[in-house]
Amino acid sequence: MVSETDPAASGLAYKADATKVDKAKNPKYAAGQNCGNCALFQGKASDKAGGCPLFAGKQVATAGWCSAYAKKG
Ligand code: SF4
Repeated sequence: MVSETDPAASGLAYKADATKVDKAKNPKYAAGQNCGNCALFQGKASDKAGGCPLFAGKQVATAGWCSAYAKKG
C-alpha cells in the first residue's frame, strides 16, 4: 500500500481517506471524489485497494484521493 508519508504521495497530497483531504490546500477536491471513481484507478470500485500508474508497484486505497484525480469518463 502507498503510505501518505511517501514523498511521491505527499507531493500529490494523497490521503488514504478522501474525506480527510485538506480542502483549503486542495480546492480542486470535491466531495464524492475518490480513487475508486478516478480514471487512473486500475482496481474495481468494489475492491478495497488497487493499482495506480502514479504509484507503480503499490496500491492506493479505493477510498483515497490525490491531486492528480481525474473523473472517470
Ligand atoms: S491518480 Fe486517481 S487513482 Fe491514483 S492516487 Fe490519485 S486519485 Fe487515486
